[in-house]
Order: sequence, then C-alpha cells, then structure tokens
Amino acid sequence: MKIITLSGDGIGPEIMAAAMKVFHTVADLNGLAYEIIEGKIGGAALDAYQHPYPEQTRDLVDQCDAVLLGAVGGPKWDQSQLRPEQGLLLLRKDLEAYCNMRPIKTFEALKDKTPLKDESMIDMCFVRELTGGIYFGHKESYEENGVHYAKDVMSYNSDEIRRISHIAFDFAKKRKNKVTLVDKSNVLETSKLWRKVVHEEKGNIEVENMYVDNAAMQLMVNPKNFDVILTSNMFGDILSDEASILAGSIGCLPSISMGNGPILYEPIHGSAPDIANQNIANPIGMIMSVAYLFKMTYKREDLYDLIYNQINQLLNDGFGTRDLNLKSTVTTTHFTEKLIESIKENY
Ligand code: NAD
Repeated sequence: MKIITLSGDGIGPEIMAAAMKVFHTVADLNGLAYEIIEGKIGGAALDAYQHPYPEQTRDLVDQCDAVLLGAVGGPKWDQSQLRPEQGLLLLRKDLEAYCNMRPIKTFEALKDKTPLKDESMIDMCFVRELTGGIYFGHKESYEENGVHYAKDVMSYNSDEIRRISHIAFDFAKKRKNKVTLVDKSNVLETSKLWRKVVHEEKGNIEVENMYVDNAAMQLMVNPKNFDVILTSNMFGDILSDEASILAGSIGCLPSISMGNGPILYEPIHGSAPDIANQNIANPIGMIMSVAYLFKMTYKREDLYDLIYNQINQLLNDGFGTRDLNLKSTVTTTHFTEKLIESIKENY
C-alpha cells in the first residue's frame, strides 16, 4: 500500500507527525505492508513551487492508494493571488472525490463538552455530495440599468445523485439500515430530483425525508434520531459543521472523501494558525483519519476499533490537549506517546 502524506500548513505538520507515529505503531504491530511518501500542498507548496497543488504533488498523488492530509491555509498567504485552500479543491477534483463522509461520534469523556448538556453519546455520519451543486454551477455577476445582479446556478443530474446514494445505502446496511435524506424539495427542483432518485434506488433501506431547515433544528433538539444523513453539497457543508459541535471539540473529528480514485482522509478542522508550533494542537481528528485509513483502505475494522478504544480510554483517564479541558492537560506529543503506549499494551 502506497500512502502519501500532505501535512500542509499551521498545525498540519504537528498533527501529521503524531498521526504517523500511531500509523507506524499499529501497522508494524500487525505486519502490514506500506510505503509512505511525502508531498506539499497549500501554503507550503506555494512557498516551494508557487502553486497550492503543483504538478510535483499531483504526480505523487497519482501513484498512491490513499492520501492523508493535515490542513491548509494561514495569514501568510491571505494576500496571495492563488490561495492555499485552492490546493485542497484541486486535490479533491484530481481524486474525483464526489462523496464526503463525516462521522460524528462522541468520545465518552467528552459527552458533557457538547453545548447540549443533556445529550450523551452521539453517533451519526454525514454523506455529503462533494463535486456538484451550487458550488460548481455557472456563476455570473452583471449590471443592468444601474442594478447589480449575481447568479449561482445549482444543478444536479440523476447519475450524480445515484452514485452517492449507493455509498450512503451501503454504509447504512452496516449500521441501522436507515438514511435521512435532507433537502428542500418543497421549493427546489434539484431537491425534487434527489427525492425521486433516492426513493427509486433505496431497495430495502428505510429513507426518512427531512427539509433542511427542520434538520438544522432537529440536530440540536434530537440528535440521537439521526444515523446516516445523505445530502447535497451546500446543505452538507453547513449542517455537518453545525453537527460537529456535538462531538465536544472540532479537533476530534475526521473526514473521508472518496470517489473514483484513492481515498482522502483528513481532519475536519483548518490549519489553526493561532495555535501552530506550540505543541498544543489536538491530534485526535488526524489520528482518527488514520483509523479510518485502516478501516477503509486496509479493510481492518479491528484496527480502527483499537485506535478508537485507546483514545477513548486515555480521555476517560483524564488526558487531553488544552482544547478538551480535561483533568490533565498534555501536549500534542505527550498525548501521542501515551496513546502509543496504551495501543502497545492493549494490542
Ligand atoms: P480552524 O479550524 O483552523 O480553527 C478554528 C478554531 O479551532 C481555532 O481557534 C483553532 O485554534 C481551533 N482548532 C482547530 N483545530 C484544532 C485542533 N486540532 N486542536 C485544537 N484547536 C483547534 O479554522 P479557521 O481559524 O477559520 O481557519 C484557519 C485557516 O485554515 C484558514 O486559512 C482557513 O482557510 C483554513 N481552513 C482549512 C481547512 C482545511 O485544510 N481542510 C478547513 C477549514 C479552514
């Protein structure tokens, strides 16, 4: 298995270093074969190659079976013509990653960190369409008779909806056999098409329909009702950020983007320039990205469970980075060392 690491900017290199220590420990304990190569993306690539996703990186990515990404962006490149964040969009396009999965699963020790105090363990997963819809439709700004107009076109076709629906259905089969389809079909033509296609394709999966405005509210009042949430690009972008607070800290959540190429694993947060180079970043989102790499690319769910359970145990014992505010605040490297110790002990 050939894996490329793209650390990126800000806290990216720190959390990548932590996650790779965990990767090596788990892979070596299990005798898994791997080759790791490193590449540059975002601001780091702008500095080295004057492009956020240079050809040099694309050539490396094209040889790989999986991609691990830290985060991109930072004030250093705010004025540059090409933004670091464009590197991420180009990477996703290169990978033809049309599906973004964002699992939101609370660690036991963090259940009182959610703003919803009466909620306990949340376990849901967004399946968001990533390469279509309003973000990629025709855009236009113009002026007519002194009035300014702007247009963003949202369009979907049945093939785009069908292929992502089947990812959601396959995932639901391993969970509760239920998918909540979030749309705005009382107003939007694209949403009507989503409903038609999803219901034509659902087989024996239970599909619950929910309007996006109601979903925004239900996520806060009744989050345990959700399991697999299937939705379009913009709705998924907004709702999955809203739901991420249910997990206690943005630093704990991974995401998986997939399509026709290698799978991309990355934490959901950005490059956190405010805390970069201080050894205080929470590495859990990045380490859980490695856990998903074991689960999905290596098809080793047991290794995902091993990592998840040992993180859970460490948090239950009161160890965590500053953002988690547990009994013992530890550095990024200290947390990682403790995790590796307990993985070795419990393997
Ligand atoms: P951010 O996610 O980087 O940070 C938001 C807040 O959360 C900050 O206070 C930060 O310190 C904290 N935080 C984030 N990750 C953390 C972690 N692992 N541990 C502890 N605290 C953590 O979002 P932002 O500040 O809006 O963006 C900063 C830069 O990141 C911008 O340039 C933005 O464009 C970029 N960005 C990149 C990605 C990506 O690479 N996927 C995603 C979002 C934002």
